[in-house]
Amino acid sequence: MKFSILADSFHKMEGTRKRLELTQFLVELFEKTPNEVISKIVYLIQGKLRPDFEGIELGVAEKIAMRSISKSSGIAMKKIEEEYRKNGDIGHAASIILEQKTQMTFLVEDITVERVYETLFRISNLEGSRSQDMKMKYISSLLNDATSLEASYILKILLGSLRLGIAENTVMDALAITFSGDKNNRKILQHAYNVSSDLGKVAETIATDGIKGIKKFEIVLFNPIRPMLADRVKSEEEAIEKFGNEFAAEYKLDGERVQLHIKGKEVVLFSRSLENISSYYPDIIEKIPENIQAENIILEAEAVAINENTGEFLPFQELMHRRRKYKIEKAVTQYPITVNLFDILYCNGKSCLELSYKERREKMEKYVKEDNFTKYIPMGIITNKNEIEDFMENSINAGSEGLMLKMLDKSYQAGSRGSHWLKLKREYQNDLGDSLDLVVIGGFFGKGRRTGNYGTLLLATYDEDEDTFTSICKVGTGFSDENLDQIYQILSPQVTIKKNPRITSEMEADVWFEPELVIEVVASEITLSPIHKAAMDKIRTDAGLALRFPKFTGKIRIEKIAEDASTNEEVIALYKGQKKVAHEKNLI
Ligand code: ATP
Repeated sequence: MKFSILADSFHKMEGTRKRLELTQFLVELFEKTPNEVISKIVYLIQGKLRPDFEGIELGVAEKIAMRSISKSSGIAMKKIEEEYRKNGDIGHAASIILEQKTQMTFLVEDITVERVYETLFRISNLEGSRSQDMKMKYISSLLNDATSLEASYILKILLGSLRLGIAENTVMDALAITFSGDKNNRKILQHAYNVSSDLGKVAETIATDGIKGIKKFEIVLFNPIRPMLADRVKSEEEAIEKFGNEFAAEYKLDGERVQLHIKGKEVVLFSRSLENISSYYPDIIEKIPENIQAENIILEAEAVAINENTGEFLPFQELMHRRRKYKIEKAVTQYPITVNLFDILYCNGKSCLELSYKERREKMEKYVKEDNFTKYIPMGIITNKNEIEDFMENSINAGSEGLMLKMLDKSYQAGSRGSHWLKLKREYQNDLGDSLDLVVIGGFFGKGRRTGNYGTLLLATYDEDEDTFTSICKVGTGFSDENLDQIYQILSPQVTIKKNPRITSEMEADVWFEPELVIEVVASEITLSPIHKAAMDKIRTDAGLALRFPKFTGKIRIEKIAEDASTNEEVIALYKGQKKVAHEKNLI
């Protein structure tokens, strides 16, 4: 398949944010796509080569990309850097530069999607001392044969800056329309995606075997299942109102969510955002097989740091020490954990998702043995307000964040934030009613004790409609010296020359970061703001929302990717909620 077809589609898609139009462009593209290439097309649309859980990174730096452009066009690096600085998008800069070149030369051959994909894949596999040279060689050879439009998209994919704003749901709508003629079949595709986390595979299956094939989609061991998430409630009363008079309550432990795939001694661990995190937990990999009494199994657990002497749960932050490539063994002994199981998703070759909560809990207890390291998360059946209050008290005393409440007769709803699970945190009863998870987009150099660190950070919410990160506040309080050092280590490699185009901020920072790191903050209030861009124009024209007196809670949310941060929708809901409370208080 000619790459120009894909480049033309990308170009059209970049020109719109309207979901219906995007769907239509995708349908037109899928109609022209042979079955053997459709999975590749679906990954490339999302700026990826494979599903996220395979962890394939292109890892091409801006400098290498610019050198490759220089090599293939014969134009000096300085000129390319200048062009890049001018418009802030390397793909665009390349297209302007190469435009001049293509006018002078004849292209020898059309490049194909297959060739681009294979080359990108090879680049992603390169390691070692000569890898930079090899990367340049591969990239410039592609650019040599590419038109300027094609080149701009190749570079955008390479640098991870292709942002078409196409949600997974839109891709699934388009697949359903193209291959079954009925958009409503999206729901069936959604299920297949939720159990496989692999949109490319879903696309290939519907293209070759139609809806019949999709209906047969099953869980595959070692491919992560998209997790079920919970709604929040503010009080015990609200929980009882929603769930009636019999439901399960579990401790909401403050650790890292881990999905465990186990077959004999083979164990793979996935995070909440489906990243393979096996290397951080060699202790789980070593110990857990002994506890399993099934041929194969998928479990969910919260890995929690503990004080080895007292058995007490320690805050999530302790797990940060395990986020390292080297000397992990030392971290494992210094920062011990326990694995606290709360669900079973698959057992002996069969899905457990359709079973009720009660059946799943029983099954989990049947097929997994407990010991000092592997435990079932504490659970109780609640039938009245006293019981829930007591259980909350015990849970907080044990060092947890609050409770997870679960309906007894409901199945596991992969990939959705449903109303069958509720979370009730103690901290919801404070000021704003909730903490926010925000993306660090910029930094300001510290003074005095903080010299050499970023003393203050610029934070953003996630705008789901625009797929951008909108500034909401600066935060400079709540950081310990250790936090500041840790944050500096994480952020330094993420500094960019230019502000990432997905960042929307009028406030200028000393340095801009790739929007990746998520941290937790609390605040006293949400106010209208003429400067910040979160929820711009949504409450009042020409005003965004900002946090008043924001404070870092000490939690770096390593398990969250930027798109998991608090959304503008959530901030608007909190803003409205706070107004309602103020109104009620006035009435009293
Ligand atoms: P939060 O910001 O509150 O951690 P979240 O957006 O990460 O929420 P939610 O589904 O809203 O995800 O909250 C559930 C999270 O709480 C899970 O992702 C998991 O890490 C953690 N957790 C702790 N104890 C439990 C439990 N008993 N059952 C399910 N999840 C639990």
